[in-house]
Amino acid sequence: MSQGTLFIVSAPSGAGKTTLVRELIESLDGIQVSVSHTTRGQRRGEVDGVNYHFVTVDEFEAMIARGEFFEYAQVFDNFYGTSRPAVEALLEAGQDVILEIDWQGARQVREQMPDAVSVFILPPSRDELERRLANRGTDEHATIARRMRDAVSEMSHYDEYDYLVINDDFTTALRELQSLVISRRLSLARVKESHGPLLDALLS
Ligand code: 5GP
Repeated sequence: MSQGTLFIVSAPSGAGKTTLVRELIESLDGIQVSVSHTTRGQRRGEVDGVNYHFVTVDEFEAMIARGEFFEYAQVFDNFYGTSRPAVEALLEAGQDVILEIDWQGARQVREQMPDAVSVFILPPSRDELERRLANRGTDEHATIARRMRDAVSEMSHYDEYDYLVINDDFTTALRELQSLVISRRLSLARVKESHGPLLDALLS
């Protein structure tokens, strides 16, 4: 069985990353999202073990000390990290794996796994991003301004990524992400591994 591909997906808050990734894994077989560990509080509607593994700072630090993170970072006020054993087991089982992580984590993953495919999702305009961020609960001007600053800070790293997807029309953005996953599955290395006997038979 061929080893799966590791995809890194980053985006500023408000770009639609989580919804796109959820639809992407529902629309294709053989692809999963890695469930990160975080020290941030659970939001309404989030499920422990599904959206994140919610842990205390002490538990997070113990995992760092045991070398259990593939990557981890402080993102704004909280810690987030990807469990190494969980991701490796999925890749070895031939699953494609998506890491929904920030630019700092993306850098750490690229260093360890240069074959990882990285994608940055962008909003279609600054006005639209501001509108999407303003729609998230509070209307307080200072809060929206802070979210906007955080988003611009994340977006400033777009040119470290292999692919850029602009989420203007959702269906188009989803199709673009699907194309990336499928094209990777057709790469010479993957097909050689998955269809070795066919290739041998065709040439015999
Ligand atoms: P949120 O708290 O809104 O779910 O996520 C905040 C930010 O943390 C997002 O940019 C998200 O991509 C990032 N993030 C989530 N999980 C991880 C992780 O495991 N590692 C890193 N480096 N960033 C993460």
